[in-house]
Amino acid sequence: MPQSEATDGRDTPCSSVSASGSDGGKRRKSKNGERSKKRRRDDDDDSSSKNSTKLAKASRGDGLRRSSISKPGRDRRDEPTIRREKRERREKRRRAAEDDDGEAKRDASRDASRDASRDASRDARRDAQRDASQSRSMARLDSPVIDFDGLSRPSIGARARLEERPDEAVARLDRLKGAVRTIIECVGENADREGLLATPQRYAKAMLDFTKGYEQNVLDIVNGAIFQEGHSEMVIVKDIDIYSVCEHHLVPFTGKMHIGYIPNNAVIGISKLPRIAEMFARRLQIQERLTKEVANAIFEVLRPQGVAVVMESSHLCMVMRGVQKTTSTTMTSCMLGCFERRSKTRNEFLSLINVNAR
Ligand SMILES: [Zn+2]
Repeated sequence: MPQSEATDGRDTPCSSVSASGSDGGKRRKSKNGERSKKRRRDDDDDSSSKNSTKLAKASRGDGLRRSSISKPGRDRRDEPTIRREKRERREKRRRAAEDDDGEAKRDASRDASRDASRDASRDARRDAQRDASQSRSMARLDSPVIDFDGLSRPSIGARARLEERPDEAVARLDRLKGAVRTIIECVGENADREGLLATPQRYAKAMLDFTKGYEQNVLDIVNGAIFQEGHSEMVIVKDIDIYSVCEHHLVPFTGKMHIGYIPNNAVIGISKLPRIAEMFARRLQIQERLTKEVANAIFEVLRPQGVAVVMESSHLCMVMRGVQKTTSTTMTSCMLGCFERRSKTRNEFLSLINVNAR
């Protein structure tokens, strides 16, 4: 009620206008008023009894007596009609204001409880996310790759990306375009120049293509192409071209991957090996993890005697910037099962892919 608030402000200049402060302030004020009235009366008494100790004593006694009388009783009996009417109006206003305050407070408490519940649910969500990420990182430690409900070590947004509606896909592309435009502007270019006009769109699409591996999973790629052949000799697919994106710099690294395995009766369709490599390469990667993920994925789906993966690549973030070692090659390997256990098997693999000779 704005009117009562205005009067509050006028009546209680010393009090804050907060809900709990307003009537407390008024009470304080009226008390002060009575006190000043009393002081005035004391002053009168003093002035009249200035010259007489006896009278001063009497006035002191008077003061004592007066302080023992209940103030409202005295005030109400003594006060003139106009003042009483004013007081009654004031009290009425205060009661109305208190009702409003009560309602406001109830609203506030309702809001607070709603906020609290929202906070609680947010906390719960955050906890759940933290737990999930913890369990994810645990899962990555234990069995790094395959997640049979779907996406083979999916990242947080991978499922949302996979299952998005067309309008959500458009919104994602738009956000990405905006980000690319920002990059163009930040390097000091004119983003509206003819040659750059469609670049955000092109780059956004390209980036989604570079990372399309997030939408794939190993089981779909293998698609049942596992055959019980009773074969147990080494199988090698070498020189698989890899184009991946370094997750530290978002620039490409490219190279060759060599995959070997020794079957345990079952063999996998030979074209599946490059496709598994491709799937993990089309994510934000580091070469070390990419190598390990490919090896683990093959090991999980095929359960062979062993898997060996070697990768050699050139990182643009190293070649084009930083140390600028243009001829350097980074090599990583992951040996599982018999390749890990037996150096003879491992050496056979390494000599067959001819890595040492390069
Ligand atoms: Zn890098």
